[in-house]
Amino acid sequence: MAAWRPWHGCHKCSPGCLNCYVYRGDARYGRDASQVYRTGEFDLPVRGRRDGTPRLSPGETVYTCLTSDFFLEEADEWRPRAWRMIRSRPDLMFFIITKRIERFEVGLPEDWGAGYGNVTLAVTCENQQKADERLPILRELPLFHREIICEPLLEAISLDRYLCDRIEGVTVGGESGPNARLCRYDWVLDIARACRAAGVPFHFKQTGARFEKDGRLYHIPRREQHDQARRAGIDSPGGRILEESDDET
Ligand code: SF4
Repeated sequence: MAAWRPWHGCHKCSPGCLNCYVYRGDARYGRDASQVYRTGEFDLPVRGRRDGTPRLSPGETVYTCLTSDFFLEEADEWRPRAWRMIRSRPDLMFFIITKRIERFEVGLPEDWGAGYGNVTLAVTCENQQKADERLPILRELPLFHREIICEPLLEAISLDRYLCDRIEGVTVGGESGPNARLCRYDWVLDIARACRAAGVPFHFKQTGARFEKDGRLYHIPRREQHDQARRAGIDSPGGRILEESDDET
């Protein structure tokens, strides 16, 4: 897995943003995560090494914009160039996670057509309201690859009407950090069942720090959250394995 952070910083726009890990991370260094800036690795996809090989090796999945949102307003002037770099690397798969799917078309390249084959767009929805707002848009956009991420999962969500053969995967996880909100195993299981019924790959990524199962509340240390989810054994084939650093974007 490779990561590309062309810009950094973001604005809270959704209930899932409350305990955003970008804000938590920046606060540790006395920085304000609402200050958005273009990073020094902006042109990483087109950078080469001294021996002429590309910095990002062919075949990599490139997790894009994990410390911001690719469709953030401040990035409107940078995004056209970012799209050009993405287009120039058909040998990579760019995985973009967003809460701003309604801004997808702002700065979209003219040659987008039915989509770039090397882009997967994943929409985050943490509750039913956000699912109902964002997933109808995701379903209809010109994309070759689309996924759903329910993290931090804050309530029971019915995804039934959004799961179809155009959705390539659903990932679910709880919330981490000192102020983590509750995640119930029943909510996770409901989504897992819906995915199985629809034939959509499902991945339970992590429990979060406050996890309720069978009416009992568990406080789960960070180092065990992914392992506990894996041990639940409820993934269905093909579910994406996201890394720990991809939390709750
Ligand atoms: S990075 Fe993601 S979670 Fe954090 S404020 Fe932006 S959209 Fe919200």
